[in-house]
Amino acid sequence: MIIITQPSVTDAQIEHIVARIEEYGLRSQVMRGTSRIVIGLIGPEELIREKPLSAIPGVESVVPVAKPYKLVAQVNGAPPPPVAIGKVKIGSGQKIALISGPCSVEGKQQLLSIARKVKKAGARALRGGAYKPRTSPYSFQGLGEDGLRFLAEARAETGLPIVTEIMDTRDLPVIAKYADCLQIGARNMQNFALLKEVGCSRLPVLLKRGLSATINELLMSAEYILSEGNPNVILCERGIRTFETYTRNTLDISAIPIIKKLSHLPMTSDPSHGTGLRDKVPPMARASVAAGADALLIEVHPDPDKAFSDGAQSLYPDQFSKLMDELRMIAPAVGRKIA
Ligand code: PEP
Ligand code: MN
Repeated sequence: MIIITQPSVTDAQIEHIVARIEEYGLRSQVMRGTSRIVIGLIGPEELIREKPLSAIPGVESVVPVAKPYKLVAQVNGAPPPPVAIGKVKIGSGQKIALISGPCSVEGKQQLLSIARKVKKAGARALRGGAYKPRTSPYSFQGLGEDGLRFLAEARAETGLPIVTEIMDTRDLPVIAKYADCLQIGARNMQNFALLKEVGCSRLPVLLKRGLSATINELLMSAEYILSEGNPNVILCERGIRTFETYTRNTLDISAIPIIKKLSHLPMTSDPSHGTGLRDKVPPMARASVAAGADALLIEVHPDPDKAFSDGAQSLYPDQFSKLMDELRMIAPAVGRKIA
């Protein structure tokens, strides 16, 4: 951390700043330039992070040098370890996996029908919510444990591992009986109790970016999970709120290369929630592959017009197969392949 002082700083103020730094357990180095005095802080920055240094008289700004997240930060040089959902490795070198299925598990036939179709088209994991975060309490809330049972049946038949959302710490024991990967949705990205709870689990966690969360906040949420001992976190860009109203959210494609540089964790993209519009999902899926995503989450429904949730953004099964063919052509252009 570096403190830049105001041009008008007095010697007494410098002494006061140095005394504070030393009280906090760090050492300081005062560097006098021709027009400014800069004070370097030496020692663990955590000791000082919460301290109100910028409000001390004579301080102009405080510039952190180290990143606030440690465990999720890129390990220099080492190849990033993949995270396994069942037997499917996400973030392992070249391969890009498709995690597909309906927004909500609506019934056994609906789920089995779409699981067979996405499997045939080349998806590697099945998604589907049994506990749904809905804006209205009067909207379909999910089938709960019945939905989890249907997911397990679909897995038994197709071999696809399952990704399903957890919203409440109290549901972890039941969801963990069935799921291969726990999804933490955008609305719960900063539910710190939930992050800590899944951090104590060994199941992989798919952590989605919050509706208005910065990249830094997403990485800090991932840090919560890793700091509890669970290293198996997969990050997901799912669109953020902007002033644009044409799309449901604005898919921040730039988050993909940014996060891949900042963190060793696999980075994925969800163009379904990222756009909210069926016909915009394939172009944004193609762009996500080109931008370096390690996996894509795509909502597909056997009959989207009748879907209980997110029908407008769910692909028809044929559209999904066509998209898979396109992605198989795009991936090699960026040194990847569709798993
Ligand atoms: C979902 O995946 O169906 C979902 C609710 O996603 P998000 O949390 O990104 O809105
Ligand atoms: Mn959805």
